[in-house]
Formats: sequence, structure tokens, C-alpha cells
Amino acid sequence: MLSLLSPWIDAAFGPGRIRGGVHAEEHKSATAALPIATDFPLPKRLYVPVQQHVGKPAEPVIKVGEHVLKGQLLAHSQGLVSAPVHAPSSGTIIDVNEYPAPHPSALPIRTIVLETDGKDEWQQHTLIADPFALSPEDISLRVGTAGIVGLGGATFPTAVKLNMGRENRIHTLLINGAECEPYLTCDDRLMRERAENIIDGVRIMLHGMETSRAIVAIEDNKPEAFAAMQAAALPYPQLTVQQIPTRYPMGWDRQLIRYITGMEVPVGSRSSEIGVTIHNIGTAYAVHKALRHGQPLVSRIVTVSGGAVVKPMNIEVPLGTLISDLFNFCHVRPDITARIVMGGPMMGDALPHINLPVVKATSGILALTQDELKSADEQPCIRCARCVSVCPAGLLPLDMANNIRNNQLDAAVDLGLKDCISCGSCSYICPSNIPLVHYFKYASGEVMARQQAQHKSEQTKRLMNDRNARMERIARQQQEEEAARLAAKAERERQKAEQEALV
Ligand code: SF4
Ligand code: SF4
Repeated sequence: MLSLLSPWIDAAFGPGRIRGGVHAEEHKSATAALPIATDFPLPKRLYVPVQQHVGKPAEPVIKVGEHVLKGQLLAHSQGLVSAPVHAPSSGTIIDVNEYPAPHPSALPIRTIVLETDGKDEWQQHTLIADPFALSPEDISLRVGTAGIVGLGGATFPTAVKLNMGRENRIHTLLINGAECEPYLTCDDRLMRERAENIIDGVRIMLHGMETSRAIVAIEDNKPEAFAAMQAAALPYPQLTVQQIPTRYPMGWDRQLIRYITGMEVPVGSRSSEIGVTIHNIGTAYAVHKALRHGQPLVSRIVTVSGGAVVKPMNIEVPLGTLISDLFNFCHVRPDITARIVMGGPMMGDALPHINLPVVKATSGILALTQDELKSADEQPCIRCARCVSVCPAGLLPLDMANNIRNNQLDAAVDLGLKDCISCGSCSYICPSNIPLVHYFKYASGEVMARQQAQHKSEQTKRLMNDRNARMERIARQQQEEEAARLAAKAERERQKAEQEALV
């Protein structure tokens, strides 16, 4: 079926350049025209989780009662893949404990609570006149100690990616300015207002990766951002700013790589293996701040939007700000809020309540009304195959969902469940309102739980085997020792008998 639809897709988007995707309603006009607000009142308390990144959680280095300055290290990274967290303002640490995570489960996560002192006083940080005089290794080191992670939502530690870039001889650095999720405009505004700083960050990343070429990709629904970025990049021949079609999920790294370079990332491989790496424009901006101003990542720009928001806006807030504080500032109406979403409506997470903090991954917080939610009743599948034609990962959503419904998870895995990126395009397009992506999220969770259980049982079995082997070894040693003791005793008695015989 996919092959039947491919000519249509190619005719529409160029041969092999875009796979699937949908034209989702944008809902961006409420915030796209407004400058980034910087007048958010400093919250009385900030809740800073020690894990805001992919990898090991950071380990607190402060004590309750300690006074800290803005930018001071609160928790250091652990291991190769991790990132530190820093104080988003000055004040006193009043707790280090478990608090709900900004996640659909709101499960507790270790969190440092900072009571702000109202001074917002930075720790001393050194301006760096020429980051290009630093070695590439030093760039990675400073990016790592600044706690920078992928701000497009992936939250992979940026320093690790820079190091991998050097090791894999990356030929192209792609900077993702697609911002293809509906409602979100924080990247759009950042590019319009701080283009020179972003381009500076991109150049520093190129230096850190020892790569010679960068391409900034921006969807063609952001002409002002494109113009600003193009003007900022003009003096640098190694940088290209390129418009890409507006089509969700254009910002998915494999889609973007395929469109820009014509190269395909093989299933199960990393993009670095084909010489390409992707960073978000917000990440490039954070690199600029760290390498020019010595400032760690302590704030981010968040889109607050949705039908229940009276004053939608893009706003720069300290990390650890509670969503309830944000909603108060933006006059969100709880009486008409049907769903709270962190991120965009397609791939974001529905949150159970608003007493959860803004973290490094928080690109947006949406307060959606019932009208904005697709809530029509599910109808039987009419086998129209639209879900197949829009899947950017080339999967068969209908067949996968049928297998999941019949509790045949292995069959769904065989059909590529693990390659599903939960983009929601299939659910969006389905005329029968079948919540396909919900099936895939559920099934992925089940498969992961099953793998974890299997891993645990294998670990238990290994521990049991190790224990049994140890017990056998000890028993053998004891037997050998006893045999040696008896042999020695027999020898002593023999010698004694010999001596007595001589006497
Ligand atoms: S889009 Fe919906 S109705 Fe059409 S084949 Fe897929 S699941 Fe069935
Ligand atoms: S949610 Fe998964 S199956 Fe559906 S379109 Fe996206 S990648 Fe394909």
C-alpha cells in the first residue's frame, strides 16, 4: 500500500525527500507576533529536579540551609552521560527531597527547593573574549559544565554530542529551527529576536566539533525568523540558512536529515554514523551564553498558549518555576481548561496538575479547552490507509494497532513498534477517530516493562548462579582444607609412631 501511495507523496513533496507527515492546524498566531516577555516576577520558590536530561541524575552538592548565588552549581553530573543543574536564582536551599516530576505520572523525583531572596544575584562569571581561541575539547568541557542539554525536547547532554561529533568526523551540523509542533513559537521568537547570538552559538559548536559546515533549517511559515537568521549568518560562508516546507513532523531528526542532505539514517543507527548531527536553535543560543558570558543554563523561553489562556505569550522564566505561577501570570482560566500539556499537542505530555516545575525540556505549556481536543467518538476502521500514508517512519499503524488490540505485542514489535516516534500523525489524520498513537504509547510502555522484568529476572538468575558457584567454591575449599588437615594429622601421627619405634 505504501508503495502505491509513494508516487503521490513524491509528487507532492519531492522524490524521497519527505516521508509522510500532516498539515496540522498551526494555532501559532496567538503568540508568534508577540516579543518574548522578560518581566516574569521572580517566584518565591523554585523546584529544581536533579534529572532534567537523558542519562544519570545529577548528585546534589549543596546542603539544606545553604545560601547560593544564581548560576551556582547545585548538583554535579555523574558518569559519561549526565548533566549538572545550577541555581536559577539566588536564595536559600530549603529542601532536597522527592517532589512530583513534570510527567503524566507525576511520579516523585529528587528535587532541590530554592527559596529566592529577591536579589537574583549572579555568582561571578567570566566573560570569554574569544571562544575560538579555546581548544575544541575545552568547548565541550565548558558546554558540559554549563548543564546544556538538547532544548528541542530530547534533553541529551550537548557536550556528549559535541564529543561524538569529533569522534565521528561529522561533516554537517544541522540546526533545527523547524518548530513544527502546533501552538509552539518560542524558537520562532528566539530566532527573530536573538539571531546573532544563535549564529554565534552555531559557530562555537562547529569549532567544538571540528566541523566545517552548518545548515540551519527553518519551516517556511516563519519568514521573519528566516530573514533574521539569514542576515545574521551572511558574514559566515560555512553557514547556510535554508527554508523547509511546513509539514509536521518536519523537525524529527531523520526527516530533517533526509530532506536536507538526501541521506537516510539506517534503522538502529545514530545520525552521527552517517556524518550528520542535529542540535536545536535554543541549544545553540545556550552555548552562546555559556561560552561568551560564562552563564550556565538556568532559564528558558516557554510558550504559554491554548484556548484557556487569556494572555498567551512567550516568556523567559527561571528553570524550576511552577506551572501554577506561569498560569497566574498568563491568566489561565481553570474553569475552561480541559487538558494541560507540556510541549506541543502532538508529542507533548498531558500533565495531571499544575504544581509541577518548568524544566530544561519545557518548550511550551498549553491549557487547552474541550473544543481544542479531538474528542469525537471512535468509529470502525474504513481501511482508507491514510494512517499509512502519513507515517514518517514508514510503518503500518492500522496493523500495529490491530495486533496490540489482540494483545499480540510481539507481532506489533515485528511490524516496527520500536521505530514509532509517537508523533501522532496517524491519529490526527484518521477519519474514524481511532486513537492509534495511544495504542502505540501503551504498547511501547508494556514492551519496555516486559524487557525490564526480563532483565530483572535474568539479573536475579545470574546472581543466584553466582551465589551457587560461590557456595560450591567455598564448600570445595572447606573439603580440601579438611582433607589437608587430616593428611597433616596422619603424617604427624606416622612420624610420631616412627620416632616411638626408634626409641
Ligand atoms: S486512517 Fe483510520 S480508518 Fe483509515 S485505515 Fe488507518 S485506522 Fe483505518
Ligand atoms: S505515531 Fe507512530 S505509527 Fe503513527 S504516524 Fe507517528 S510514527 Fe507512524
